[in-house]
This record gives sequence, C-alpha cells and structure tokens, in this order.
Amino acid sequence: MTPAEPRPGLRETRPYASPQPDVAIRLNTNECPYPLPEGFVEHLQEAVRALTLNRYPDREAVRLREALSAHTAHPVEGTWAASGSNEIIQQLLLAYGGPGRTSLVFSPTYELHSRLTWVTHTEIAEVPMEAPWLLGRQHVAQAAQAQPSVVFVCSPNNPTGNAQPVEQVERLASSLDALVVVDEAYIEFGGRSALGLWREHPNVVVVRTMSKAFALAGARLGYCLATPEVIDDLRRVRLPYHLSALAQAAALTALQHTEDAMNILDAVRGERERLSAELSRIPGVTPYPSDANFVLFRPHADAGEVWRALLERGVLVRDVSAAVPGCLRVTAGTPDEVDGFLSALKEVV
Ligand SMILES: *Cc1c(COP(=O)(O)O)cnc(C)c1O
Repeated sequence: MTPAEPRPGLRETRPYASPQPDVAIRLNTNECPYPLPEGFVEHLQEAVRALTLNRYPDREAVRLREALSAHTAHPVEGTWAASGSNEIIQQLLLAYGGPGRTSLVFSPTYELHSRLTWVTHTEIAEVPMEAPWLLGRQHVAQAAQAQPSVVFVCSPNNPTGNAQPVEQVERLASSLDALVVVDEAYIEFGGRSALGLWREHPNVVVVRTMSKAFALAGARLGYCLATPEVIDDLRRVRLPYHLSALAQAAALTALQHTEDAMNILDAVRGERERLSAELSRIPGVTPYPSDANFVLFRPHADAGEVWRALLERGVLVRDVSAAVPGCLRVTAGTPDEVDGFLSALKEVV
C-alpha cells in the first residue's frame, strides 16, 4: 500500500502560522490588549448557561444577525455571520471563485486572501502597489485586465496600516464584473467604510470581524454585509451549523456591550498615535501612517535581526518583511506594553 497523494502543491505549502513564543509583551497579532469587561463576562456566563448544547445551533443565527443588522444599520437579509471573517472569505471564494476563475489582490496585503484563493482552487492575480500603498486609477485599470471574478481590497490594509479611498473601491465595483470584497477588519480604528456602496453597486461585499475592535478573537466571529442575493449564495456553500451556539452567544453578548468596546477603541487609538509619534523620533527607524490598531515601521538595520533582538528583550512584534521588504509591524498594546516595546527598540537600533 502506498500513502495517499495529496493535491499537487499541497506539501510545498506551509501551514498558516506565525511564531508564538511565550514572551511578556506580545504585539504581533493585532488583538485587543485589554481583557473583557467584568459586566460582559457575567452576562456571557448567563448566556452560556442558558444554551441547550445537546441541540444543534440556530443554523441561520437569526438573533445574532438581527443584532449585527441593528449595529451596522444594514438590512438583516444582507447580513451574514461565520466563524471568523476568514470563514466568510472562504465562503465567498467557494461561491464566487473556484477552478477556472481568478481572484485578485493588491499587494502587499493580508496573506489569507491569497491563501484561501489557493485553498478554494481559484487562480490568483496580483497587482503590486508602492508606498504609501494607496489604491489609484492605474491599479484599477490593471485589475480590470486580469478579468477576475473576485477582487479583494483591505481597508485599512494589513500590514501597511493605510485605509483606501472609497472612490477607488467604487471605481473597481463599477468597472469590473467581479465581486469586490472589502475587508474592513480594522474599520473601527479609522478609514471610511465602503458599506454605503452596495445599493448602487450590488457587487460590493463588506467583511468585518469581532476579533479586533470587539476584543473577541477567541470566540471566532466574522460577518459580512452585502445584498440578499450574495447571502443566499453563501447559504449554498456553507457547512451545516457552521456557527456554534457558543460563538453566537458570545457575539450577541458583545453586541449588548458595544459601548464598552467603543470606550476601549479610544485608548487603543491613543496608543497607536503615541507609537507613531515616538517611532518617528527614534533615529534608525521609519514609521508609516496608520488608520488601524498597529503601526508598520522600517528599521534601517536588518528587519530580521531587529525582530530577534526585540524577542531577546521579551517583546514580540510581527516580521512582515516577506510582504513589505525590511519592515516590522507592531500592535498598539496597553500603555505599559508600548513603553516596553519602545525602550527595547531604542536599545536595539
Ligand atoms: C485580523 C484580520 C482578520 C480577522 O480574521 P478573523 O478570522 O475574523 O479573526 C481579517 N482580515 C484582516 C485583514 C485581518 O488583519
């Protein structure tokens, strides 16, 4: 008996993973640095206790989708939720990508867009952008040439931090026969949302997450806002009961505590601004402007060496030099974490 052969190229593909060594200051994955507020945790306990986990969850997540609809002022028929926005993106690609179709990304951007394109057997096309990584007419024209079925725009963009002009997203939507997927994982921190476009441009889909601003990365909750037709297409490819009752309860509770989340936002934005200001004062590094909860910066020394030297001092940031040559990315943490990062960096460079 010979071992089974996996799909061509599978063994050459590394699993998606970033180093997660156990260190004191973790500023590498853009999570909310604060624990959930006490009142939230108590409500969540009650909500979990009331669940009937011997039964399958509500397949349509009706209560959660109604709450998301109220939160975003988007019709409930056009609102959909899944286990993280990554699952939403995979469902979109299952429905609109596939063999013989192409999905397009503007690079550098979030790795999962191209990775899930590959996972779903979709062809990938890339339009490269230069600093400051702003989408312009020329990029839209280049994208049209690739005749993609799906186009990803990440705004604010990870890992560069800048938001994209909504006018260019609209230009994409009107000049291409593609589903234009706008990943707004960081929209609560800055930038203008593309959500207003869908009525005039039904090919626009906005994807969001509760992993960042809502401090709920561990619960796995992403959602998308689109036309009811797009949501019906996602129903055709989703797994039965793809969203657990626990995740639905956690997200629903979080939406009842939106005010707490929004209070934390101010603190996080404040630390981002402090990071940017302090980084621009350190000789030997160049920071880039950010609309998100992280800052991209370029050490003038070798990025890999700076990354390791920070790690030796108990500070973990993200080495994004494979996507943006020479650059590292740091999450806006608590004031103490930011202080720890800044003093370690000053020693290193
Ligand atoms: C963090 C992040 C997400 C979040 O993914 P989840 O699966 O919802 O945790 C999505 N898109 C981008 C660009 C991100 O940086």
